[in-house]
Amino acid sequence: MTIEPTSAVRRLIQAMPKAELHLHLDGCLRPATAIELANHYGVASPRSFTEMFATLVAPAHPRSQAELLRSFDLPIALMQHRDSLTKVTTDLVEDKAADRVRYMEIKWAPACHTGGGLSLDDVVDAVAVAVTAAAQRCGVVVRLTVVALRSADPFVNVEVAHVAVAHRSQGVTGFDLAGFEGADPDPMDHAAAFGVARDGGLGITVHAGELPDNGSLVRRALDLHPHRIAHGASAVADPSVVAELIARRVTLDLCPTSNVQAGTVASFAQHPLARLIRLGVPVTINTDDTTVSDITLSEELLSCYRELELTLPEIWRCNLHALQAAFVDEPTRAELLGLFENWAERIPELHEEPTSSHPRAR
Ligand SMILES: [Zn+2]
Repeated sequence: MTIEPTSAVRRLIQAMPKAELHLHLDGCLRPATAIELANHYGVASPRSFTEMFATLVAPAHPRSQAELLRSFDLPIALMQHRDSLTKVTTDLVEDKAADRVRYMEIKWAPACHTGGGLSLDDVVDAVAVAVTAAAQRCGVVVRLTVVALRSADPFVNVEVAHVAVAHRSQGVTGFDLAGFEGADPDPMDHAAAFGVARDGGLGITVHAGELPDNGSLVRRALDLHPHRIAHGASAVADPSVVAELIARRVTLDLCPTSNVQAGTVASFAQHPLARLIRLGVPVTINTDDTTVSDITLSEELLSCYRELELTLPEIWRCNLHALQAAFVDEPTRAELLGLFENWAERIPELHEEPTSSHPRAR
């Protein structure tokens, strides 16, 4: 059953200050920017907006995670220079600010952007400088998570981790592992890189459980002692993994639309997000890739309301939890929590318990 949100619910979700933790820079290119960059750098690609849109946005139901990942080939080809990294980063911060995302963590793999001659240091610096300027102009807070590639040589990922740590003063606060899980599913291959990141003071997150699975992929990722897991939806299949996530307070940064595209679940309505929340697993709601999934955070939250019957208080608590789980310094976290809570005080629907704000309860 679906619950169509009223216009008041739509306006409320759009207007609420939001936090988003699972967001890939190369999954968020505006089609118009992609055309501009392709023309500028002479990269073969569609030239019309409609064709570019169709290239950047993944099909609603790709056959696999591997197919979904192909949606990143063109964005990465277009992001091999300082100017293009600056433009794409600036666009993303502006787009998120327009959707009332007041705190965001942007993640990307610097090793994917060195083909034009930039060093890993250059790539991180380019994104960090652009983020600082855009965040200040838009009145939002942004932190960065450097991503290591699952398919990379572990020694290369150690170098990536050192570069990430070296840029802490520029807002790099997290370290992640991403890539096709089917090819090399053992995150422990990269334990040395995660040791460098952890010792350097970075928050640890790992992509896991994006393939349909019995929970074993998330269990393996827990061996790296992450603070958070990017996705992790398939953990729901194993009660012992669910219990471990709860006991260790590991947050799942879930992205239901993206999971449908990756084939993790058959449909949005079958996503375990609501079940995980009600089991007590710490959860945040995210888009993963605003362009590849063609969805804003407000739209994703509305889909959770409509398809998963999440109540407004449940959505709001996930939103607040994103701040609580954020890789951000404590004074900034306290300031953002105060800002969010002050805003919510004026909205009684966000505090009605347990389910009276949702049509389901009537
Ligand atoms: Zn992701």
